[in-house]
Amino acid sequence: MRGHDPRGLDLVGCLRGEVEELAGELEQPRYRGRQLFRWVQARRETDFGAMTDLSLAFRERLPPVAYVGRPEVSREQRARDGTRKFLLRLEDDEEIEGVLIPDEDRLTACISTQVGCPLACRFCLTGLMGIRRNLRAAEIVGEVLALQDALGEGERISNIVLMGMGEPLLNFPEVERALTILCDELGANFSPRRITLSTAGHVPGIKKLAESNLGVNLAVSLSATTDAVRDRIMPINRRWPIAELLQACREYPLPNRRRLTFEYVMLESVNDSDEDAARLVRLLGGIRCKINLIPFNATPDLPDRPSPRDRIEIFQKILHDAGLTATIRESRGRDISAACGMLKTDAEKKRTATAPVTATQGPKTD
Ligand code: SF4
Repeated sequence: MRGHDPRGLDLVGCLRGEVEELAGELEQPRYRGRQLFRWVQARRETDFGAMTDLSLAFRERLPPVAYVGRPEVSREQRARDGTRKFLLRLEDDEEIEGVLIPDEDRLTACISTQVGCPLACRFCLTGLMGIRRNLRAAEIVGEVLALQDALGEGERISNIVLMGMGEPLLNFPEVERALTILCDELGANFSPRRITLSTAGHVPGIKKLAESNLGVNLAVSLSATTDAVRDRIMPINRRWPIAELLQACREYPLPNRRRLTFEYVMLESVNDSDEDAARLVRLLGGIRCKINLIPFNATPDLPDRPSPRDRIEIFQKILHDAGLTATIRESRGRDISAACGMLKTDAEKKRTATAPVTATQGPKTD
């Protein structure tokens, strides 16, 4: 668990038991470790000096051994509907996106798991970046804590979706560790039922997730009904084609009253025909699931056009008539899985242009 950072361990990425062990190594009782874990994860304190119920002797021994990291908000954009997109700068100056999406009764944090993504889905800006590196668990947890820091008194993130930059199942050990930390009852205490991991269809990863004890929800971005089309718009399909992917979905152990989610980005004349809808019905037969139809967010950098609204509604009706639950994701900040990478791409463009920036800028200070 020890890194080579001269500051020692980033406590944000440590499991509760590891923080207890650290307390033991510093000749403190284990419960002091639990207190420290709570300060870092539940109270989101980054300054050991402020952790006043820990003994001064303990606090003074921490800095060379451990520190509390946090990504820095380098840019924030607010949509009219209240969605807030954050560009977060990591310690090595790489940048990732996090998004806060308010809804009637929930406040969802959409977080990234990689810097960039190697999977090159044709409808995704992040895919254009390629992969730069995996995030560490501390950085994934740090994203959630930084987004929570940006909220006002009384506002609390209620749901987490791993739908930002990156394919979470390509970084499974760190994602697993981060989710375990976030669900710890002495920490941020998220219920796994309120966390959704979204994959482009990494079959071995789905199997690993099934074997883990995480208990989070699984969403699969399907977005095509034939291998010929999916090969073109989601190259991961060449490795794990639709039949293999759906077999893994069929075998996924779903707790009672839970369903898989299939995401389907609607691309005009690519995957939105009546025949596609009918094939989708056949493909998903026997899988307890719901389908999110996602209006494509067109940008000049991506080749496709969005399906017209009436086409999406006809597609939805075919699914409904066959007894499937299908919702059209509202076109607001919510369609972030299709739009992920947008803020990052935007920021890169603005660095080389003089266009006015409408977002608030600079790091958030408490
Ligand atoms: S949609 Fe997801 S998996 Fe596909 S390129 Fe974008 S970030 Fe990667």
